Amino acid sequence: MSEPQLNARVAAKHELSPRLMIMRVVADGWQMSDFEPGQYVALGLPGSAPRYDLSEPEDPPSDPNKLIRRAYSVASSSLTREYMEFYIGLVTTGALTPRLFALNIGDRLWLAPKVTGMFTLDQVPEDKNIVMIATGTGLAPYMSMLSTELRCGSHRHFAVLHGAYHSWDLGYRSELLNLQHLCKNLTYVATIDRPEEEPVPWTGCTGWVQHLWMKGVVAEAWGFQPTSANTHVFLCGNPAMIDEMIGMLSKEGFREHSRKAPGEIHIERY
Ligand SMILES: Cc1cc2nc3c(=O)[nH]c(=O)nc-3n(C[C@H](O)[C@H](O)[C@H](O)COP(=O)(O)OP(=O)(O)OC[C@H]3O[C@@H](n4cnc5c(N)ncnc54)[C@H](O)[C@@H]3O)c2cc1C
Repeated sequence: MSEPQLNARVAAKHELSPRLMIMRVVADGWQMSDFEPGQYVALGLPGSAPRYDLSEPEDPPSDPNKLIRRAYSVASSSLTREYMEFYIGLVTTGALTPRLFALNIGDRLWLAPKVTGMFTLDQVPEDKNIVMIATGTGLAPYMSMLSTELRCGSHRHFAVLHGAYHSWDLGYRSELLNLQHLCKNLTYVATIDRPEEEPVPWTGCTGWVQHLWMKGVVAEAWGFQPTSANTHVFLCGNPAMIDEMIGMLSKEGFREHSRKAPGEIHIERY
């Protein structure tokens, strides 16, 4: 069977560090599909595409024309039809990310026509507050949700808790700080877990992101306790963070959400 053609191009690439980038992709002559903020789409490149200098070498792919495809959460607003933005971390031993990091503006790649996923705010009753907890690039779906759904001054409280290794790995930090300044109903707390490696001393929170929840940072910012009766919690990124959060939240009466059994914990594992 012939592989799908490379049907999209890189419109912008912002390298936050050698291992972290924000990439904008545009469809090449076709209309990108509608999507719900929080959903994901597959990106792809053939095995013949060059690998990034900082990645590990790999055995030559058995079929260099075969597309390597992986899922990526859309980080841009669903109101933006011009491009889709992605927040991507390099896995140096990986098959696709070393090839994505080698792309330059104008280069072609494959973008799946269909966007999918259930990690969306439409699963949440409108009167519930939202806590969004992410490690690393797990922030991506929340950027889409906030830029589409956040209403400054609304009764609904939002909190974003973001954990990363270093301060320079905290993508979208300036956007989130600005949004927090403009919208009193948004709380943004970032934490880093390798403060000893910061050349410029970091004065913010340190440690794992799940410990921010234990310390009560959301209750302190909101002025009331987030409970399963008033709040839904979104978890995205590192599976270990997600498992630890589920353990803590379950003890507090939160339940995992599924279409068949609605609950207050929404999960996307990378
Ligand atoms: C629904 C969904 C949405 C996703 N959204 C994003 C996103 O927005 N941004 C993003 O960067 N990634 C996202 N991912 C992860 C992404 O799909 C790839 O798994 C990731 O980019 C690695 O791809 P790769 O081909 O380079 O590595 P692979 O060849 O798939 O993996 C090589 C090895 O690295 C390990 N590995 C895979 N991912 C990581 C990691 N993050 N850290 C350390 N080791 C790893 C694998 O277990 C494997 O052993 C998402 C995954 C899912 C399921």
